[in-house]
Amino acid sequence: MQVRKRIENQPDNKGYFGEYGGRYVPEILIEILDEITTAYLNLKDQKGFKEELSYLYRHYVGRPSPVFYAQNLSARLGGAKIYLKREDLNHTGAHKINHCLGEALIAKKMGKKKIIAETGAGQHGVALATAAAIVGLECEIYMGEVDMAKEAPNVTRMRILGTNVVPVGFGLKTLKEAVDAAFEAYMKDPVDQFYAIGSVVGPHPFPMMVRDFQQVVGEEAMVQFMELTGRLPDNLVACVGGGSNAIGLFSAFLDEDRVEMYGVEPAGLSFKKGEHAATLTLGSPGMIHGFKCYLLQDDQGRPLPVYSIASGLDYPGVGPQHSYLKDIGRVQYKTINDKEALDAFFTLSREEGIIPALESAHAVAYAIKMAPDLDQDKTILVNLSGRGDKDIEYVVEKYGKKYGIA
Ligand SMILES: *Cc1c(COP(=O)(O)O)cnc(C)c1O
Repeated sequence: MQVRKRIENQPDNKGYFGEYGGRYVPEILIEILDEITTAYLNLKDQKGFKEELSYLYRHYVGRPSPVFYAQNLSARLGGAKIYLKREDLNHTGAHKINHCLGEALIAKKMGKKKIIAETGAGQHGVALATAAAIVGLECEIYMGEVDMAKEAPNVTRMRILGTNVVPVGFGLKTLKEAVDAAFEAYMKDPVDQFYAIGSVVGPHPFPMMVRDFQQVVGEEAMVQFMELTGRLPDNLVACVGGGSNAIGLFSAFLDEDRVEMYGVEPAGLSFKKGEHAATLTLGSPGMIHGFKCYLLQDDQGRPLPVYSIASGLDYPGVGPQHSYLKDIGRVQYKTINDKEALDAFFTLSREEGIIPALESAHAVAYAIKMAPDLDQDKTILVNLSGRGDKDIEYVVEKYGKKYGIA
């Protein structure tokens, strides 16, 4: 009961989930973050705002996304039944559009002219460029030159959508430098610009706001699952990068004590430093990007380099709410390595005709691991956060021979 109450009221009004979250930012940013918090809290329950967002979810994104019983896969594993929440079917192919639309609408209502962000592989950039186009805002995305070369199709997509993609050419020319450049550009005019964070991370109110926009996933899934099976799922599984798709699914079920939850982190190539991004599994509390969370850090508290086959999962920090849920034991955090994720990528494609994003394949892999040990009357609901079209070229090039397709 104690835990239940604490979860419901989170975060507190300073943005803390237990000891995690908060705002560790320069003084000048506090006022801006306060303004965003106030605007968000006023808008979120306003009838007009809610209607506008649900209209977009329904008629633009294609919500509700279905829950699908993966019958072939379940039969093959011979244990618990596996169900998929199909966020891969959303417009733009992943769950990110849910919070990007929310953030763009908030920015618009606050009278901002432009939304700014960085992007690594380009998934956040494309979702945000899409949201900016439909909501009617300018959009500027900072991207390292190395990432731009690797992810050329996403650069093209953003440009077609009318977004200004700004190449970042200093340092290692990847995500970290892109964050620095985007932030610097934002600080030049925080009055007319809005910095749109891409997961449940960053200073308060972003972990709360992004979570709230993703909550639709769990709320839909609960109703759909009841309709399909007459009861709640026994287990939930979702991959965790920053943690937005996972918290979106988990939130609706946190008070249901009998629903067990598993967040899946990338174990990459190994548990050696720099070869994984298993933040909750191997990290310790620290500070990154203006908030407190579990962090993969060196002995000076600086973020360590991270790696995963799924570029959407390679972040050295993690959402503050996940950090809290780990400590109280409400969610268990597990790992899946590159190889297991790749196997799951092909297994789901071949058993169900669904090509998952490599990020989502981590969640699928964990479900595949746990299903055989559970009775056939048990169920597992997996958040299939995105589709794998973006990954096929890379997979064929690197692993095609091994899987008999190149
Ligand atoms: C970005 C991304 C993720 C990881 O982000 P979270 O905030 O942890 O959800 C997972 N799946 C897909 C398909 C993504 O694009």
